[in-house]
Amino acid sequence: MEQARDKVAVITGASRGLGRGLAETFLEQGLHVGVCARSLPEFEHERALAMSVDVTDGAAVADFADRVVQRFGRIDLWINNAGVLEPIGPVRGVASSEVARHLEINVVGVLHGIQAFVRVVRAGHGPQSGRGVLINVSSGAARSAYEGWGAYCAGKAAVDRLTEVLALEERAHVRAHSVAPGVIDTDMQATIRSKTEEEFPMVERFREMKEAEAFSTPAEVAEGFLRIAFGEAPDVVSLDLRDLD
Ligand code: NAP
Repeated sequence: MEQARDKVAVITGASRGLGRGLAETFLEQGLHVGVCARSLPEFEHERALAMSVDVTDGAAVADFADRVVQRFGRIDLWINNAGVLEPIGPVRGVASSEVARHLEINVVGVLHGIQAFVRVVRAGHGPQSGRGVLINVSSGAARSAYEGWGAYCAGKAAVDRLTEVLALEERAHVRAHSVAPGVIDTDMQATIRSKTEEEFPMVERFREMKEAEAFSTPAEVAEGFLRIAFGEAPDVVSLDLRDLD
């Protein structure tokens, strides 16, 4: 997309899976990218800045944002993509410490990204004209209950509401969306398919999806995110990418 060329985008959780694919497509499309994950994302590219950052560490996320600004001058688009799926299993038996750790990554980690981006934009390091764009990567699990996914469904629902509140509070500075990307064949999907029916009763549906290769590609999701950010803005905060057309 021509309007996206030379824009500066941040993507968390970009060492593999969807985040890595987003960064690769963004680089192909002429954007500059700041990428992070706990393991250092491997990008040898003059328009890429990669750092090792755990999103549960708010100070580290803030420092990452500052370094992206130092390197590229501003941040136009921030994508909170880093996330985990586990623990998987019935709510009655899941360890509360594992649920707390999950929510610390999938919800508090998103909060840290939001806070870093809002601070950058409010300090005048957002887009040269207009508002910064925030995309939080959500899931269909934010709106539908899946047996065995108590932590994941609760966390993604929280991300949708958090994004909707932020969109109101920062309406002058940031256009915020929480976007379910569809199903992409990443390590997360491999984890899902490895579960037993006791842990995850819908597992067979996901194995059939693999047999049919019925997935969205990271490149397709990247195109959708660029349209949301730099094309026509959706009129809702929380949406499913597959409903865009
Ligand atoms: P993935 O293959 O497991 O990749 C997850 C990424 O997040 C990795 O780069 C991982 O790197 C990073 N990450 C995890 N914990 C982190 C932390 N504490 N701090 C920083 N980075 C962290 O998963 P994916 O399928 O690409 O999922 C990406 C996002 O899409 C997630 O938010 C997921 O919920 C969402 N999503 C995926 C699907 C799908 O079908 N795949 C569907 C709907 C929504 P490190 O381990 O090196 O930190």
